[in-house]
Amino acid sequence: MNILFTASECVPFIKTGGLADVVGALAPVLAKAGHDVRVMLPMYTAIPQKWQEQMEYQLNFDVQLGWRRQYCGVQVLKKDGVTYYFMDNKYYFGRPYIYGLGGDEHERYSFFARACLNALPLLGFKPDILHAHDWQSGMIPALLKIQYAHLPAYAGISTLYTIHNLQYQGIFGIKEVQDVLGLGDGLWSADKLECFGCANFMKAGIVYSDAISTVSPSYAEEITTAYYGERLDGLIRTRRDSLYGVLNGIDVDEYNPATDPLIYKNYTAKTLSEKAVNKASLQRDLGLDVDPDAPLLAMVGRLTNQKGLDLVDCVLSEIMEDNVQLAVLGMGDARYTNLFSWAEQQYRGKMAARFAMDHELAHKLYAGADFFLMPSLFEPCGLSQLISLRYGTIPIVRETGGLRDTVLSYNDFSGEGNGFSFHNYNAHDMLTVIKRAVGYYREQKEVITLLQKRGMSGDYSWSHSADDYVKIYKKISNQ
Ligand code: ADP
Repeated sequence: MNILFTASECVPFIKTGGLADVVGALAPVLAKAGHDVRVMLPMYTAIPQKWQEQMEYQLNFDVQLGWRRQYCGVQVLKKDGVTYYFMDNKYYFGRPYIYGLGGDEHERYSFFARACLNALPLLGFKPDILHAHDWQSGMIPALLKIQYAHLPAYAGISTLYTIHNLQYQGIFGIKEVQDVLGLGDGLWSADKLECFGCANFMKAGIVYSDAISTVSPSYAEEITTAYYGERLDGLIRTRRDSLYGVLNGIDVDEYNPATDPLIYKNYTAKTLSEKAVNKASLQRDLGLDVDPDAPLLAMVGRLTNQKGLDLVDCVLSEIMEDNVQLAVLGMGDARYTNLFSWAEQQYRGKMAARFAMDHELAHKLYAGADFFLMPSLFEPCGLSQLISLRYGTIPIVRETGGLRDTVLSYNDFSGEGNGFSFHNYNAHDMLTVIKRAVGYYREQKEVITLLQKRGMSGDYSWSHSADDYVKIYKKISNQ
């Protein structure tokens, strides 16, 4: 099949979160299975020079956005069997940030949508499947259906829209979006593009795609409810028959403790004692007490409410009792950077916080920690808990979304499980489970070793999920 991905980020070129990991890992797996896979991305100046040097200029054209006429160059780079196209316009993407600060996100990603669609016939590529990701690509299936599908160059393209996080929807004024995309007044009704008086790019993707998917079976179920539905649950319920939940995988070559060049010492399930070397070196580098007996909890991720950090805030002093250590790596809300900066001073030698996008330190934390704490309020899939499992770092999670689908709490009677979990969004429930995990660490090390080995032997590769995507592609394209 000819498959086109459109996305706003993709490893190894540009990343702010899990979306980049998913696009960057899934595309090569599909290519390896024999599909012609191409990925369209914005040409951000933040893409490292190393990759920019490998790109080749292919062609350029003008994109009409209302009264504006904007240049679009297409740079191409081939890697691991996948063709990557970078849609180049310095005005929109030549900025020192990826998202958010300019107040013209609607225009930037409207440009991206038009550029992707207009480029197809010029590149001589006709996809069977257009697979659009997250709100930044939401307008692409909508524009395709509304304005392009009747043209021979676009006839017969089927669309799948994947929601990686329903919380970020791309909500703008209708007039502003009409001003750039020229979509007539008749399209702004509740059954089409209008959403609570606004334009909503994610709603556009959900309404106009042939099928919708999200990144875990549990989250697919959850977003049909008001609690998780972010005001789109009614719409999602009407599309329930076309909604799929496909669990993400991770890049098992990049995240492999046996070969990972970024960690202090490689290890496998058979040489688990070497993990202690990683812990000691990590403790030293982070300024923590180098103490093999202190259970080390790690958190890596965006510092936002989604990640359950208000629970940590609520019981931090109780967590830190009893010679427990906590290491946090993330960027995000001031509330949490303030909290963890304060905590680092308050619990010297026990608590470390780093506020940066630091790929290398993230690997070192996955390898060196004993437990990985992820008490999310909601979690579409979550990659961090999968990476932790692979490194023998035991996840402690809240039972929601993909965390519920991938972490099974240890059962003392049956011996089943690969981590620890709690159900209610409640700080003391979380604390009880942390204490339980620490209790095993102190008194029943054999349980910890069992969970570590079980985690490390799990299959977190993309192979099953890639097959599931292909099944959806076949279904919507009648192949
Ligand atoms: P989300 O997509 O909600 O941000 P995920 O768990 O799905 O969360 O994916 C987050 C990915 O980004 C993981 O691979 C995690 O290790 C990585 N990550 C998040 N924050 C940082 C950071 N500050 N430094 C390095 N890696 C990070």
